[in-house]
Amino acid sequence: MVLNGKAAIVTGSSRGIGRAIAFALAKEGAAVLVNYNSGADAAGEVSEAIQGAGGRALVYKANVADPAEAESMVKAAQAEFGKVDILVNNAGITRDNLIFRMKDEDWDAVIGANLKGAFNCIKFAGRSMFRNHFGRIINISSVVGITGNSGQANYSAAKAGLIGLTRAMAKELGSRNITVNAIAPGVIDTDMTRLLPENVRENMLAQVPLKRFGSPEEVAGLVVYLASEAAGYITGQTINIDGGIVCM
Ligand code: NAP
Repeated sequence: MVLNGKAAIVTGSSRGIGRAIAFALAKEGAAVLVNYNSGADAAGEVSEAIQGAGGRALVYKANVADPAEAESMVKAAQAEFGKVDILVNNAGITRDNLIFRMKDEDWDAVIGANLKGAFNCIKFAGRSMFRNHFGRIINISSVVGITGNSGQANYSAAKAGLIGLTRAMAKELGSRNITVNAIAPGVIDTDMTRLLPENVRENMLAQVPLKRFGSPEEVAGLVVYLASEAAGYITGQTINIDGGIVCM
């Protein structure tokens, strides 16, 4: 187990990619704070499954966009686990619309959950890492943060912002042995993409060279690697996991 003795926070881990990340980190020996915003039952099931398999987990409700809630979540992890070694900023939402129809509240909500949430969590969890001279911060961005996407001005801006935040934090925190990387998934099979109209899903699939959507577990495998000692010299990077949608 490559993460024995480590303590992790995974934001938005009641469902989808975050849930798979929480399971994967716990399987490698990390204690995991399972964060959710509205899905208390789903988050409880994730925590019970981790504990049932012999791992350590703590469920915590916090809207990461709210600085006070993010801070109390980090304090809860420190109280339970004694430290935070790994922070995965995974919580995210979409509120798609064309720019002329996009409401201010849809812009604010998407920037809040996806980008400000990561800023809040890094600010509070980063202090523990700074003190301990060790940390792994992994921000879940998206390929649309690189390519942009029609109907997703808010989401594309938030995910591009996460890439900039990743680079800035890699430079600011590197001297304390804290690595900061971003993952840019393509289309992953979760509620977020399952709820899209069938014709939209088919159009997306047509753009994937590997001709299938990715699984949450495939993203989780990359998170485990970036959190491990083996990835200790990788920082400031954005790694695509997208079946080949973006080839650079
Ligand atoms: P999902 O199935 O919709 O799950 C989203 C998770 O985020 C849920 O656990 C939700 O918790 C949580 N969440 C949302 N807003 C939150 C907030 N303000 N505070 C705390 N938690 C919050 O989404 P997903 O597909 O797994 O996506 C996970 C991440 O990957 C997101 O950042 C997304 O943008 C990114 N991503 C996804 C894809 C894809 O194709 N699925 C592609 C690229 C990037 P509650 O249910 O409790 O609200």
